[in-house]
Amino acid sequence: MTTSLSAPFAAIIARALDGRAPTDADLAAVIEAPAERTAEVAALGLALKRARSGARLSLCAIVNAKSGRCTENCAFCAQSAHHRADAPAHSFRDPAEIAAAARRAGAAGATRFGIVSSGLAPDEADFALLLRAVAAVAAEGLEADASVGVLDAARIRLLRDAGLTRVHHNLEVGRSFFPQICTTHSYDEDVAAVRTALAGGARVCSGGIFGVGEGWDARIELAETLRGLGVDSVPMNFLHPIPGTPCGDRAVLSTHEAVRIVALFRLLLPDAALRVCGGRQDVFPGPAADLALAGGADGVMIGDYLTLKGTAASEDLAALRRLGLEPAVPGSDVPEGGGPGNGRSEWSAREAEK
Ligand code: SF4
Repeated sequence: MTTSLSAPFAAIIARALDGRAPTDADLAAVIEAPAERTAEVAALGLALKRARSGARLSLCAIVNAKSGRCTENCAFCAQSAHHRADAPAHSFRDPAEIAAAARRAGAAGATRFGIVSSGLAPDEADFALLLRAVAAVAAEGLEADASVGVLDAARIRLLRDAGLTRVHHNLEVGRSFFPQICTTHSYDEDVAAVRTALAGGARVCSGGIFGVGEGWDARIELAETLRGLGVDSVPMNFLHPIPGTPCGDRAVLSTHEAVRIVALFRLLLPDAALRVCGGRQDVFPGPAADLALAGGADGVMIGDYLTLKGTAASEDLAALRRLGLEPAVPGSDVPEGGGPGNGRSEWSAREAEK
């Protein structure tokens, strides 16, 4: 993808590569870019991505280890027991079944594999299965991640001993918008879960979902919270409206808006690996699919999502080649931390202004 950049966009890139924090005008230029400049916004993101992680793109996959009957009421989620969505419900899968799914994901090109279960925290029986599943995934040569709700320090230690690479816990949206999408637990509980995982020595994957009614201010708020926490891997999901959920009637975000969101996060989270995940086939359909890979992300999720079918891995690999990118290989994922802006005083000043 070769797109010429206008002087203002070239200046934004130059400032970012110099390690300087984006100005409010830089953010506004991305947020207010008109639809006819979508490709240019994506090119801005790709230029910054190439500077931080080169041509490599990280491929990850997930398994829905335990589905449905969740006590929480996240407005976008088909698995909540509070909603009337037609989502599959099953108990925690056998670790051997999870290992087989990891093996298939690895054969398709994934280097990381997330074990995901519904609910606020696993009970003792599910946690025992999770430990075995983590060890089995690690034995397949993939980096094992777990997205299983809130984990205390003791459980994080046990998971790390079993071979866990990352704890995954999304904040979902900016703090000010959170009460609009979930009322069964607080934002502070989610932030505390991220802090506990980091304090326990785990690496953390934490991001959010876009298109649930949040505005640009809430998106900036989320990015700045994640940066403040020191999160270095950020999954970005886009709403796929599911009938029976409170978000079921919402419109899918346009490609134009999704590209600007990824570029915004690229500017605000220069040290983090951005991963475009759920809903990308909705916001980057057909000919726009390449923009999901070219818009500044360091990684994408391949295969199926929790309750939805995903893109065939072969299509993603073909798109990578078209863009001159290459999949990361096991043991050599995209870098996390150390990108432009890391530890620079201007960023500290931006934090101080908040
Ligand atoms: S997003 Fe997670 S915590 Fe929220 S309802 Fe769905 S499964 Fe439960």
